[in-house]
Amino acid sequence: MNLKNLTLIIEYINSIKYIMDFDKQNKYLCMLAPSFVSMYEYPNVVYRLRALGFEKVVEVTFGAKMTNISYYEILKEKKDEKTWIASPCPTLVNLVRAKYPHLIPNLVPVHSPMGSMALVCKKHFPGYKIVFVGPCITKKLEAKELGTVDEVLTFKELNDLFVTKKIPEKITDDRYCITFDKLYNDYTKVYPLSGGLSNTLQYENILKKKDILVTDGIKNVTKVLDGFKDGRYKQYRFLDILSCEGGCVNGPCMDYKYPLKERIKRVKKYKEYASRYEKDLGRTGRKIDAKGIDFSRKF
Ligand code: SF4
Repeated sequence: MNLKNLTLIIEYINSIKYIMDFDKQNKYLCMLAPSFVSMYEYPNVVYRLRALGFEKVVEVTFGAKMTNISYYEILKEKKDEKTWIASPCPTLVNLVRAKYPHLIPNLVPVHSPMGSMALVCKKHFPGYKIVFVGPCITKKLEAKELGTVDEVLTFKELNDLFVTKKIPEKITDDRYCITFDKLYNDYTKVYPLSGGLSNTLQYENILKKKDILVTDGIKNVTKVLDGFKDGRYKQYRFLDILSCEGGCVNGPCMDYKYPLKERIKRVKKYKEYASRYEKDLGRTGRKIDAKGIDFSRKF
């Protein structure tokens, strides 16, 4: 990591004070990363976020759906052009920029679920300060670049806030006992697992399974990036790769109170639960809800 990136991180860490004092002039919206369930209890964590001062609390899963739709279009049109590299992981993006700049054109030029969901929130909840909460410190750099996310808190920082603000583990006050606000998606709840993007891409009409490489962990990712020749990596058309071993459920700012296997299980179980019991609570996110939003970005 270079000095500039380090400075940005320190800047953001200092800005936690700003979040700790939810001011009365602003309304705050929390975008919760889908890995939340690997360490927090649902729906109680949503109530705790409301008790903390967030007026709106949304899942990032609808943003992930819109990211996928944009990926699908690009892969459909341009799958033979080069080997495309998934770009939701800012650590990977920064690695490509720093060490493999010739591969920048291979990064899929589409927003990450965080970036996509921020655009959706700007449309549906204008005037709110947008705060992303997740397991990843480099999301702070991505937010700084995008300008659509006002703050990023890691799960560790959120835990500190819960303690500082004396937010109890269990919330019973009816004012806060409201689950997620719209918009919502069930199948992208597995996004924080390795392969979560390609598993929810519904690529069957455009790619074969053998066209996709899924891998994770910085060692494996570096090996893959080293192996590119003329913009292609072996026979693959699409690389679904993440810097953390196992995916975002093993992010650097995750609370490791459960072992990785258990964290993965919790994400899958939540998806199952939501698909069975919560799918239609008036929060369903449809493509039309994102009408007019451009989810493309440049690297
Ligand atoms: S894989 Fe790790 S570094 Fe990449 S976005 Fe997820 S938590 Fe962050």
